[in-house]
Amino acid sequence: MTIDIDPMTRGGFDDHGLLLTDGGDSPVLDVDHVTKVYPSEPPVTALHEVSFAVARGELVGIVGPSGSGKTTLLHLMGTLDRPSSGHVRITGLDVERLADRELAALRATRIGFVFQQFFLAEHQSVLDNVADGLLYAGIPQGERRARALDALTLVGLEGRPHARPTQLSGGQRQRVAIARALVGSPAIVLADEPTGNLDQATGQAILGLFQELHKLGVTIAVITHDRNIASRMERRIEMLDGRIVFDSTEKSSTPPMPDHGDSVHDGGAGM
Ligand code: ADP
Ligand code: MG
Repeated sequence: MTIDIDPMTRGGFDDHGLLLTDGGDSPVLDVDHVTKVYPSEPPVTALHEVSFAVARGELVGIVGPSGSGKTTLLHLMGTLDRPSSGHVRITGLDVERLADRELAALRATRIGFVFQQFFLAEHQSVLDNVADGLLYAGIPQGERRARALDALTLVGLEGRPHARPTQLSGGQRQRVAIARALVGSPAIVLADEPTGNLDQATGQAILGLFQELHKLGVTIAVITHDRNIASRMERRIEMLDGRIVFDSTEKSSTPPMPDHGDSVHDGGAGM
């Protein structure tokens, strides 16, 4: 049994709300003229007409200072929230057209999340933390664990399946979280400040893991306020005040700020 790291991007749903049909040539993620207005007093426009697409196999860094709209964008990319206007499509499926149940199925089967805070269950073994990434798919426990071991091998943690998260270092915990994100062979992995709780060297090692996964064909978007991290990504998108101000795939644009390799100080957590 192996982890299918380059799955066909299927779309559509069967009776159980699981994805079935072929996404064809659609981008894995298509953010199309997305605006997000929070109905606070006064209302805040956190994203203005943001457009970009992520193709299968891309490794994308999305970088911007605090307040630039990164977390809002991650929530929309991850179908955790809906845009005020515009469209988000995952493997060609328009989030706007899906019922909540279908959206939950899409999220569980097509998107892998990695967060700054890891979010592991401390009372469960590493193996079961990863295997829980497959609960939605209705796979029997034995097979869930077999696949979880494959995912742990991908992140270099196959030697510690029965450890508790509390027995692991921060870098190892983040590897467990990445294995959990990968175990269901998602169309895209979304990582929000994945090195935010790690020291410099450990953060670099986690970035190295993302690079390795990228070489294996995994599609990954990493959101960060740290320009050093973003500069290690094959493609870099910069945000400021809710807009994309630079996208390295658009050859005509130029970076808005000289890249000194310094961090943009965000002053705290990514979420
Ligand atoms: P970042 O993650 O880059 O720091 P956010 O997406 O968290 O940016 O925030 C973008 C803007 O939207 C900020 O001005 C923030 O204050 C505002 N904002 C975020 N969430 C809400 C909310 N629930 N209600 C009102 N304003 C919000
Ligand atoms: Mg944030």
